[in-house]
Amino acid sequence: MHEISLCESTIEIIQKQVQQHGVKRVTGVWLEVGALSCVEESSLRFCFDVVCRGTVAEGSQLHIIHKPAQAWCWDCSSEVEITQHEAQCPKCQGFSLRVDSGDALQIKELEVE
Ligand SMILES: [Zn+2]
Ligand SMILES: [Zn+2]
Repeated sequence: MHEISLCESTIEIIQKQVQQHGVKRVTGVWLEVGALSCVEESSLRFCFDVVCRGTVAEGSQLHIIHKPAQAWCWDCSSEVEITQHEAQCPKCQGFSLRVDSGDALQIKELEVE
């Protein structure tokens, strides 16, 4: 399970942001999760609550935004979106895909007090 380390780095980024802006409390976090990140939503939520305890983000609401991955298809030379590993090209059904992104976690927005 890697969700806990992902959440730990997320809370580190949040704490840095909060210090820079003199925020007292974080009430909501929007997290963009790449479709290929192998992150399970329920354990991500659980880990997030755990790492937030005792921080400015304790009790904050986690909003998860699922982001499709970008891939390049060598067969039909087009940029396509995929939502799983070992995917087929949605245009030509080919398997010659080069995945460009989609395994990352990124904070999109913070709601603060
Ligand atoms: Zn995992
Ligand atoms: Zn294709």
